[in-house]
Amino acid sequence: MVQYDSKTHRVINVHSLKVGVGWTHLIETASGLVLVDAGSPGKQSKMFRYLEKLGRDDLRLIIITHAHLDHYGSALAIGRSTDAPIAIHREDADAMAKAETHLGLVRGWGKFVERTMPLVERYLSPEPTQADLLLGDGERLDRFGLDAQILHTPGHTPGSLTLLVDGGLAFVGDLASTRGRPHAQLFYATDWAQLERSLKRVQSHEPRWVYTGHGGRPIRGEVFQRIKARRV
Ligand SMILES: [Zn+2]
Ligand SMILES: [Zn+2]
Repeated sequence: MVQYDSKTHRVINVHSLKVGVGWTHLIETASGLVLVDAGSPGKQSKMFRYLEKLGRDDLRLIIITHAHLDHYGSALAIGRSTDAPIAIHREDADAMAKAETHLGLVRGWGKFVERTMPLVERYLSPEPTQADLLLGDGERLDRFGLDAQILHTPGHTPGSLTLLVDGGLAFVGDLASTRGRPHAQLFYATDWAQLERSLKRVQSHEPRWVYTGHGGRPIRGEVFQRIKARRV
């Protein structure tokens, strides 16, 4: 999807691609590509085929929004073959390094997933993934050619982050979803009150488009502003 930023008069290209269960987003920058999330374990060939189709071999950075296996699963394989460093918020780095997926205090459908998770992990066997770069709140990514900052937006996991690209694009991971109608995270959080605060924080930046970890289409800014976290 092509975004035009009327403030900077720049065009930002975002390619959204489903890699296993999770959606990943490739952002074109002036000096290469930045990947947000890396999909489920063992699904890297889909990303490689897509990069080949684009004719690009300049992946500069892999940002993982949080340490759930459907987001970091193929990160190591993609990082190995492209030499792109893997970055995650410092509070989720340990879980990713141990190939763990903490679902937190699950609700509704999440209870079923929680029960089947040991089986899923055994079947998919995610690789322990060491981060090359630990991110923190307010960190800028200009050195990777991307005019953007990291917001620490915990709740879904302790180290969930949002990538806020100048010009109004937000990549929120599993803070919200567009599977079905756009909505806030409903099933999994390590801290539901924190999740609500994080959602409000991203909304306070009034992004124009919001990309999520599940569902391929971005949420329009006006719609995102109306999304509310469901109270316990
Ligand atoms: Zn998640
Ligand atoms: Zn997810």
